[in-house]
Amino acid sequence: MARTVVITGSTSGIGLGIAEGFAAAGDNIVLNGFGKQEEIDAAVERIGALGSGSVIYHPADMTKPDEIEAMIASAADTFGGIDVLVNNAGIQHVSPIEDFPPEKWDRIIAINLTSSFHTIRHTVPLMKKAGSGRIINLVSAHGLVASPFKAAYVSAKHGMMGLTKTVALELAEHRITVNAICPGYVLTPLVEAQIPDTAKARGMTEDEVKSEVLLAAQPTKEFVTVEQIAATALYLASDAAAQVTGTHISIDGGWTAK
Ligand code: NAD
Repeated sequence: MARTVVITGSTSGIGLGIAEGFAAAGDNIVLNGFGKQEEIDAAVERIGALGSGSVIYHPADMTKPDEIEAMIASAADTFGGIDVLVNNAGIQHVSPIEDFPPEKWDRIIAINLTSSFHTIRHTVPLMKKAGSGRIINLVSAHGLVASPFKAAYVSAKHGMMGLTKTVALELAEHRITVNAICPGYVLTPLVEAQIPDTAKARGMTEDEVKSEVLLAAQPTKEFVTVEQIAATALYLASDAAAQVTGTHISIDGGWTAK
């Protein structure tokens, strides 16, 4: 039977890849995120054609608790419940701490951490009623280790690890699992956009940032792919992962082994 999968921030990058993976498996998808209306319409149609499930789009802004609540309600009204919640929306800002704009700090904490508190608190009653559920948090290697100039991102992602473990314990007897995926660098718009700022902050060229900052962190010297992350999300949503909860899966080319 088709599951219903809500994926925040799924108009681009990793979220879009996860949406494609679940759609191809025959699931119903709730897409979310920003973008041009015609591109979103095209994505809804294209993803809908990948499998037998239905795809809807909800424009909830992850900085707005009321809109998050409306998105979860709309998913439940349309499909009768939510089987899998993927908290994926995220943004980045790279700057030394003394120059870090406070409004960027607030926005990163809101989107990368607080939005998941809201999606989870509204989804859990639905999952409890259904007697099962899967919550998958797209965290990062930066949920486990730090890098300079990313104070808000690293703080939010470490917070997401705490949220993952806490909620997993609360839901352990409800057949609802809560886990984190911690990727290393994936070449998505989020990473592409931080290359110029990282170059500026470190006094490097953009090519040096790719080879000496990004891939230097990853012993395999290869970027992680969106498809590898989607496959891991599908595993965490599968029956095989029923006893995997309160933990994380790193997909980081060995980064956090160092
Ligand atoms: P991306 O920029 O390609 O996509 C981000 C998505 O979030 C987009 O759909 C965007 O519209 C959406 N979004 C941004 N602000 C939003 C808001 N206020 N409300 C709703 N949606 C909003 O980024 P990505 O690289 O695919 O990142 C996805 C997640 O994976 C993030 O949580 C990121 O921290 C995490 N991650 C990324 C990498 C990487 O290397 N790309 C590594 C580790 C973790």
